[in-house]
Amino acid sequence: MGKYLLLIGGALLVYWIVRASLRRRQRELSQQHEKAAPEDMVRCDDCGVHLPRGESLTVRGRFYCSVEHQRRHDASG
Ligand SMILES: [Zn+2]
Repeated sequence: MGKYLLLIGGALLVYWIVRASLRRRQRELSQQHEKAAPEDMVRCDDCGVHLPRGESLTVRGRFYCSVEHQRRHDASG
């Protein structure tokens, strides 16, 4: 009986260690992912606000935060 308890205890210990290390690894991986893929930030040529490139408007190599600012900038020359 004592042997079985030891086996179960050992198995639980191994299970606990593996689970803990897997969780730590997952957390490290997600942190790395956040660090490795920061969204490219660009600056609106009209008002100077910073925004992700994916949300910006690109016209003739310049970035704008909105169509209004692109038009305003174009109108002002
Ligand atoms: Zn703007």
